[in-house]
This record gives sequence, structure tokens and C-alpha cells, in this order.
Amino acid sequence: MEAIMEKVMLRCDCSLCKCSVEAAHAVRIGGQHFCSDACATGHPNMEACQGEPSGCSCGTGELEFLLLKTS
Ligand SMILES: [Zn+2]
Ligand SMILES: [Zn+2]
Ligand SMILES: [Zn+2]
Repeated sequence: MEAIMEKVMLRCDCSLCKCSVEAAHAVRIGGQHFCSDACATGHPNMEACQGEPSGCSCGTGELEFLLLKTS
């Protein structure tokens, strides 16, 4: 009998992040799961997340989003 290890992909809980992360590699904080430390900490210094090379810009996008809301 073979155990099939299914990879569970979770959507990053960062509001602007488009990344999915393997459940085994997710950063878990308070019931939420994030693709990277940058997302988990809320991008305090606008760090790019681990998905940045594949087109996710949630780190820098957050700033534009906030500027849009406050202006
Ligand atoms: Zn991201
Ligand atoms: Zn993320
Ligand atoms: Zn993020």
C-alpha cells in the first residue's frame, strides 16, 4: 500500500499577495499562513515576497494601495 502525499497549496493571507505556498513551507501566524516572512510581518520595509520573481509585487504594491486610499 502506497501513501500518496498530496501537496496542499495554501493561498497567502497577505492582502495583496497572489502567491500560493505549499502547506509544509508556509509561515503560520495566528491561524493565517503566508508564503514568506515578508508577508507574515506585513512588509514593514516593503520587502518583496518570495513570489516576486514570478510577478508578485505585494511588498511594493502595498504602498501604492495605501497612497491610493489616503489621497
Ligand atoms: Zn507576494
Ligand atoms: Zn505572500
Ligand atoms: Zn505580501
